[in-house]
Amino acid sequence: HDPSAMDWPALGQAVRSCRACDLCETRTQTVFGVGNRDAELMIIGEAPGVEEDRKGEPFVGRAGKLLDLMLAAIGLDRGRVYIANILKCRPPGNRDPRPEESSACRPFLMRQIALVNPRVVLAVGRVPAQNLLGTDEAVSRLRGRWFELGPDSLPMAVTYHPSYLLRSPEQKAKAWQDLQAAHRLLAE
Ligand code: SF4
Repeated sequence: HDPSAMDWPALGQAVRSCRACDLCETRTQTVFGVGNRDAELMIIGEAPGVEEDRKGEPFVGRAGKLLDLMLAAIGLDRGRVYIANILKCRPPGNRDPRPEESSACRPFLMRQIALVNPRVVLAVGRVPAQNLLGTDEAVSRLRGRWFELGPDSLPMAVTYHPSYLLRSPEQKAKAWQDLQAAHRLLAE
């Protein structure tokens, strides 16, 4: 279970057959990631929900549609970015990932990030933001800043998860600002 030197096919196979944490018992299928493997922007979410678990793709359903709209606001779509989650298997009942699950799954995500080698990373939601930054600060305090992610110090920003925006539409303007900031950095 050391993905750090794997190529895409080997990594995909390793995720599909992974039994490194208990979520392998309850998943319908793994949700690897989707999009352009040469993307300039990489989106990192939390974990598959019920619809993602069924379809095998991250960010489907209403939250996925809103993410698509957020991307469209900066002239991008799913085919141009790469989207992956902290966890590749669905936590039952959509509970938060447990620390042992996140750490078991993390090498897969870090290898995806290394292979894509994006210019900008956007963590959407509390779980990926806190997980990647090793903090328990709220998204409201993390957004609007740039962080450095991983050994290559990739610029990473934090914004709200589209599921949260569906519940709190008054925060959408802030998410749009976050997307614009990422867009400006990509345009430099
Ligand atoms: Fe493996 Fe990640 Fe699925 Fe756990 S969540 S079984 S570590 S792929």
